[in-house]
Amino acid sequence: MSDTIAAIATPPGEGGIGIIRLSGPDAQSIAVKIFRPIRPGRLRSHRVRYGHVIGPDGNVIDEALLTFMAAPHSFTREDVIEISCHGGALPVQLTLEAALAAGARLANPGEFTMRAFLNGRIDLSQAEATLDVIRAQTSAGLAVAQAQLGGWLAREVRVARAALLEPLAYITALIDFPEEGIEPQAVAAPIAQALATVERLLASAEQGIVLRNGARVALVGRPNVGKSSLLNALLRVERAIVTPIPGTTRDTLEETANLAGVPVVLIDTAGMRNSTDPVEQIGVERAAAALASADLALLVFDAQQPLTDEDEAMLTTTADKPTIIVWNKCDDPAILPPTAPEHPHRVAVAACSARYGHGIDELAKTIATTLLGGTLPAVGATHLVSNPRHRAALRRAAEYLRAAQETLNTNAATDLLAADLTGATNALGEITGETVGEDLLDVIFSRFCIGK
Ligand code: GDP
Ligand code: ZN
Repeated sequence: MSDTIAAIATPPGEGGIGIIRLSGPDAQSIAVKIFRPIRPGRLRSHRVRYGHVIGPDGNVIDEALLTFMAAPHSFTREDVIEISCHGGALPVQLTLEAALAAGARLANPGEFTMRAFLNGRIDLSQAEATLDVIRAQTSAGLAVAQAQLGGWLAREVRVARAALLEPLAYITALIDFPEEGIEPQAVAAPIAQALATVERLLASAEQGIVLRNGARVALVGRPNVGKSSLLNALLRVERAIVTPIPGTTRDTLEETANLAGVPVVLIDTAGMRNSTDPVEQIGVERAAAALASADLALLVFDAQQPLTDEDEAMLTTTADKPTIIVWNKCDDPAILPPTAPEHPHRVAVAACSARYGHGIDELAKTIATTLLGGTLPAVGATHLVSNPRHRAALRRAAEYLRAAQETLNTNAATDLLAADLTGATNALGEITGETVGEDLLDVIFSRFCIGK
């Protein structure tokens, strides 16, 4: 990490401002080469300077502001320079090129955040949270990411891991003295304590992961029951094509809606019925694939019509999916919908009118509650494990800790206990990054954008 990296930190395209970021030991000297301040004088940390970016041939590239953040009081804990110029493709690109010509190296995706992690400013779970903040699709998802960025998960995991290190050291010492018996109480309490923490964290993961990753929900039903209308009502914008002619929408349409804080991809599976028309047949296959990829099905029926054979067939089509049966076209809320038919995975029954908007908010809440495992998170509950990688590590830690308890209760073999406790501490260390290999770091940070 002795070199100085540079990248464009703002997204491609046109904007008011574009930012080029540098980090590393030569950031200052490179800045002095490519930036001519209006008022001369050395750069001072956490001060903004006004001036011009100068190209390698001495020409003015753009008018700009330069901010210097001296190590260690910066995002990466290295010297950091940020140059804000006009947000056009050329000023931004030429400023970057000037920095590269002056000795910087183009940063890899996520390399600034990786340096912040490697220099100990943030742990791995916080580094991952920065990406979650950038990618959050709902304010509930953002709140969960912000909390993780604040470090609550890192603290909890560190405490649980630290509690295991002492018994691990004690047992490791005993391995060489098999004649000395183990004192179970010195080991049992910390293991139970760590396991309780891990289980509490795991219990929050179902909701956290749904809030972060979202879910896929397929709208299923025979033509004309109102799937497209319902999709639009749930989006509250007109995006899918609504048509009164059955069988004319052949593609599956996907739109992302925000249902009570859950980012939900709604899939309109138009044309899911047997057909000999080859074009329609493609639509049928695509719809079946869309349903297969969904976490939940909304099986839509027309409440104003008796169920047809085609409606009944949809019960079979969705038989393997958790399904909400939706009576659409309940235009008069005073008239009760018909009794819902049996379905092996029926999770709820809802009544609504996509045309008049009755029952749509309730349906959105029913969908979100179902996806979140039965309840909405308590207001302000942001301490949720939201990353599947963290959940996998916690599950492994829990397994090792249960195995350790088992060993302790049976033969208390010190070598087995040591292996279990090592497994548990390593699994926990993968969350905070204390025990991860370079390969995993590469995988994690390659998902970032360049400049982050
Ligand atoms: P799809 O084929 O299942 O996607 O159904 P569409 O959304 O295209 O709707 C079919 C027809 O039903 C259209 O004429 C809609 O205007 C109508 N429709 C949809 N929802 C409702 C509703 O809640 N009440 C009434 N009365 N008509 C509806
Ligand atoms: Zn449709």
